[in-house]
Amino acid sequence: MITCKQRQRPKKERRQKTTQTLLNATKRETATKRRRTRPEAVLIKPTGNRNYADVLKQIRSTVKPEESNVIIKSIRKTRQGHVLLEVGASPEDKASFRTKLKEAIQGAGEVRQLSPKCQVEIRDLDISTECDEVKDALKAFLGEDWNDETKINMTKTDFRGSLKAFAVLNETAANKLDKAGHVRIGWVNCRVRIKAQVPRCYRCHGYGHIAVICREADRGNLCCKCGHEDHKSAAYNRPPKCILCEERKDGSELDHIPGSAACESYKDAARLYLKAIR
Ligand SMILES: [Zn+2]
Ligand SMILES: [Zn+2]
Ligand SMILES: [Zn+2]
Repeated sequence: MITCKQRQRPKKERRQKTTQTLLNATKRETATKRRRTRPEAVLIKPTGNRNYADVLKQIRSTVKPEESNVIIKSIRKTRQGHVLLEVGASPEDKASFRTKLKEAIQGAGEVRQLSPKCQVEIRDLDISTECDEVKDALKAFLGEDWNDETKINMTKTDFRGSLKAFAVLNETAANKLDKAGHVRIGWVNCRVRIKAQVPRCYRCHGYGHIAVICREADRGNLCCKCGHEDHKSAAYNRPPKCILCEERKDGSELDHIPGSAACESYKDAARLYLKAIR
C-alpha cells in the first residue's frame, strides 16, 4: 500500500506566490528599516525564437526602472528560461513599470505580473445570501482592485444560522478588505479578514513561497511526508520525517510530517509570510 503521495502539487499552489527570497528580503528590510512592501515579481516569457538573453538585453537597453520608482531586487532565469524580475514598488508604480516593459518588449515576449494571492474570509452573512450578492458587494467595495474572475465559495449554514464566504483575491484587494474589517452584504455589515494560508512550494516542499521562485534544493522527487525517494515500493510504510526541520540542523525534532503542528520550520515560515503580507 502506498501511504504517502509522491509530489503533492495542489492546483491552487501554482497560482499563489511568494518566496524564500521574499522572506529573506523581508528579514533584511525589517533589519534595516521597517517597510511594509513585499516585493512582487514580473515574469517575461520570451516568444518566437527569442531567448532569455535577448529579452533581458532588450529591456535593459530601453527601460529605466528608476523612472517608474521601481527597485529591482533581483533578475533571474526561471527553469523554463523566462525572465523573472523581483520588484519592489507601490501598486501604481508597478503598473507603470509593467506598461513600459510591454512597450519595450513588443512582440519578443509576454509580460505577466505574478501577484501573491490571499484568501479572504467573510463572516456573518445571513442564510439567504446568494453568491452573486457577495460578488457584487466586493466588486462595489474594491472598485478597480476587483477582478471578475474571482471565485467565491460559500460554506453551509453554521449553528448560529449564518454563512461564511471565501474569496481568493490579489494581495492589494485582500489588504484593502482586511484593513476595513467589514464589508456590507445585504443587510449585514459583515466581518472580513485575510485568512492565513501559507503557500507551499512543491519543488522543495518548503512554505512561504512557490516553485517558480524557489531557490532551495529540488526535493520534488522526495516524499513530502517522510523524505524518502522510494515510495512506489509495495511494502512502503515509513514513519514521518521532516526534511524541512532536518535542513535547519538546530536539533529540532524530526519525527513529524512537514508543515504539521509540530513543525518549527513551518511555524517560522508562516510567521514571516504573514508578517510580510499584513
Ligand atoms: Zn521551494
Ligand atoms: Zn513517504
Ligand atoms: Zn518540520
